Amino acid sequence: MYKLKFNEKVCATCPSSDCLLKCQYMTFSGHKEAHAEIMKIILGKDSRVLHECVTCYACEEYCKRGNHPFYLISERREEKGMFTAARPITNQWINMTEMQGKCLVGDVKDKALSCCYIPELGALGTGEIFKDIAMAGTFGAEFMCPAVHTHFAKMSVIKERLPVVIDNFRRLGVKEVICLHDECYGTFTSIASAYGMEVPFKPVYYMDFLLQRMKELKGKIKPLNITVAYQRPCSNRLIPDKLPLVKKILNLIGVKMPKRTYQDENCLCCGEVIRSVAGYKLADDVQKRNINDMLETGAEYCMFNCPACQIALSEKVSKRGLKPIHIIDLCKMAIGEKEREVA
Ligand code: SF4
Ligand code: SF4
Repeated sequence: MYKLKFNEKVCATCPSSDCLLKCQYMTFSGHKEAHAEIMKIILGKDSRVLHECVTCYACEEYCKRGNHPFYLISERREEKGMFTAARPITNQWINMTEMQGKCLVGDVKDKALSCCYIPELGALGTGEIFKDIAMAGTFGAEFMCPAVHTHFAKMSVIKERLPVVIDNFRRLGVKEVICLHDECYGTFTSIASAYGMEVPFKPVYYMDFLLQRMKELKGKIKPLNITVAYQRPCSNRLIPDKLPLVKKILNLIGVKMPKRTYQDENCLCCGEVIRSVAGYKLADDVQKRNINDMLETGAEYCMFNCPACQIALSEKVSKRGLKPIHIIDLCKMAIGEKEREVA
């Protein structure tokens, strides 16, 4: 069984304890308390963090010293049987995402276009931007990143399934897997590496691909001259080095993203996982604060990266006058492939 690589000594001498001090869902009196709590978790003792963490993934980004605080919290919760959600919810996710040999594989050669287990990604990965790889799609539990189970402290499911998913791609003989789901890229890079799993292909983040394609299609771009508020997904916390890609892509297509309170490191979860693990009150509060903050920027669109966030928030932002759109669809709009009004 794979084991989390976690350097306890790095935490013991950590001058910041930023993993917990920056947490938006728990408050600590200062470094001393936050440091004491992370050390309790490391030593396998009880900690308020194991009871209060809402699984936003952000501490994976806040730790700048190469450790994996969120994966450790999830490991300890599972060891202690402290599951985050009601058992039917946890089990529903496990059952719903079980491999049953019902996956779809397109005309895959050197490259695959991974649609994870999210049907909406199939429609996004089409058109001029994806013309060379649209037919090389993979879809289904066999090719799904199992990171969602971290939310429910079921790290054992990830350790069991991720090597199988990696092997399923290996058996396709691919050299590159272009991940349309942010979380797949985070899983093949951050989680696989944290557990010492070898990935025998090159995971490609779709925004790297998108930026490259939009540069190639520069002649077709008509600047959109619109403003957006970005809903950054939890999984982007696993790959913070990829965050600047958003601004680079938006600059190319003439889209402004005004500064707002809940963005970049300070972004808020879309709220739906919080609904499952911490209840309606907190989820509603997070969504309200987030949408209010988007509106204060004067943005016309709410731009998504993860289809799960888009499903969670589309209706809510629409009711408040914001048009929901995925960043890929914005790019399609910029090259005239998609209608401008999508509300
Ligand atoms: S997980 Fe990172 S930020 Fe937190 S105490 Fe350890 S080294 Fe410091
Ligand atoms: S995952 Fe989020 S809620 Fe949990 S400890 Fe880390 S930052 Fe806080």
